[in-house]
Amino acid sequence: MDINSDLNEEHKMLRQTVRDAVRQHIAPRAYEIDQDRQYPEDIFSLFAEKGFFSILFPKSLGGSELGTLGLAIAIEEIARACASSAQILILSALTTWPIRISNNKGLIQKIIPGVMKGSLRGAFALTEPNASSDLSTMVTKAEIDNGNYHINGEKDFVSGSTVADYFITFAKTKNGSMSAFMLDMPNPGIIFLRRDEGMGIKGIPHCDWSFDNAITSTENLLGNEGDGSEIARLSMNAIQPLLAARGLGSAEESIAFSRNYALERKIYGDTLSQLQAIQLYLADMVINVSATRELTYKASKMVDNDQFVTEEDAAYLNIAKVFSAKTAIKSADNAMQISGGHGYMEVHPLERIYRDARHLRLYMGTDEVLRLRVAKSLLETGLGLGGPVSRQSTEERAKREFRENR
Ligand SMILES: Cc1cc2nc3c(=O)[nH]c(=O)nc-3n(C[C@H](O)[C@H](O)[C@H](O)COP(=O)(O)OP(=O)(O)OC[C@H]3O[C@@H](n4cnc5c(N)ncnc54)[C@H](O)[C@@H]3O)c2cc1C
Repeated sequence: MDINSDLNEEHKMLRQTVRDAVRQHIAPRAYEIDQDRQYPEDIFSLFAEKGFFSILFPKSLGGSELGTLGLAIAIEEIARACASSAQILILSALTTWPIRISNNKGLIQKIIPGVMKGSLRGAFALTEPNASSDLSTMVTKAEIDNGNYHINGEKDFVSGSTVADYFITFAKTKNGSMSAFMLDMPNPGIIFLRRDEGMGIKGIPHCDWSFDNAITSTENLLGNEGDGSEIARLSMNAIQPLLAARGLGSAEESIAFSRNYALERKIYGDTLSQLQAIQLYLADMVINVSATRELTYKASKMVDNDQFVTEEDAAYLNIAKVFSAKTAIKSADNAMQISGGHGYMEVHPLERIYRDARHLRLYMGTDEVLRLRVAKSLLETGLGLGGPVSRQSTEERAKREFRENR
């Protein structure tokens, strides 16, 4: 399976660099990161040192211009060993896209170089206790007073927030429209409420925060008042291929475990791999992973070509994420079945891979919400399929004409 077949030399070299770093530094840490529930500062520093935070950014901003495709390749490799570590790179993209999309030049200068160096990291605070899939019920408000915005409300599930140097957040401004803001951390008005322990992605803290008159300058408004929904939509569109890449890496690792185990495990006087039922599991996993890889790389290239704005483009990005999440979960499940009990145990990587993969069906667009957007695009545009080409049978036509003429 040549996973590099249609990549350029730079992307192939990047994959090898990341793969080496994964084997040497990340894979040996993955179990501990999960068990200790500690944000892996050493992995964050490693990413900075290796230049992984620059991958996404264009040369004009000082980046290495390997784009979303480059970052997806890095995430795929890292996710094979540790989904929490891969999530660090996803967060760096999610918390810089809103700034780039809004084209706030002051914030681009202030934030992006620090993100690339590893001296700044952000958190993305959109979800509220009573507003997530349906953002119309958002209660967080921002009001102007003396050249500053004063923000009041509550945000839930904010990933990576206890280590964040800045928050990207969203609040209702006048007329009830949603606006987007950057706030420096620590901020006396942003109060830590609690850390929620999830089933997986345990290396990243997910926390709830209260905004109690949190103040930020009007210069930290992203775009204009009322641009928040569009900034959130586009930022989330742009990271769907990266989430798909996380699922892809996770599913690849499940296959690698299953193949090794099937070839080594003795049963009925032969190896497990000789059982056709096991071979069918392996085949299903490879079929789904191959499709996931195509969808992920296609979606990544779309973002690199600025095709993440229309809902028709977004449909393909969402398809990649939805399919990848499903593949990652199903592959981990199949791999656990092949491992016959060993993979279910806490000491086995598959147990963690399974828990981490489940996060993908919920995070940054639930499965249902993304599928509904795909359906809407299909109904509105046909997604390039057009109308049916099959002809009705003569009998069927005759029946219809009879009904119409009655
Ligand atoms: C570990 C973790 C980390 C997260 N990190 C962040 C973060 O950093 N920043 C952030 O802003 N958010 C974050 N989130 C929130 C996440 O992105 C989702 O938006 C959120 O979990 C989904 O919202 P909810 O749990 O309130 O579900 P709800 O929105 O209440 O939905 C409940 C269920 O209804 C389904 N549903 C919704 N609408 C429809 C519909 N029209 N038809 C059919 N079904 C529907 C949903 O898919 C879901 O299954 C995180 C979540 C988790 C679990």
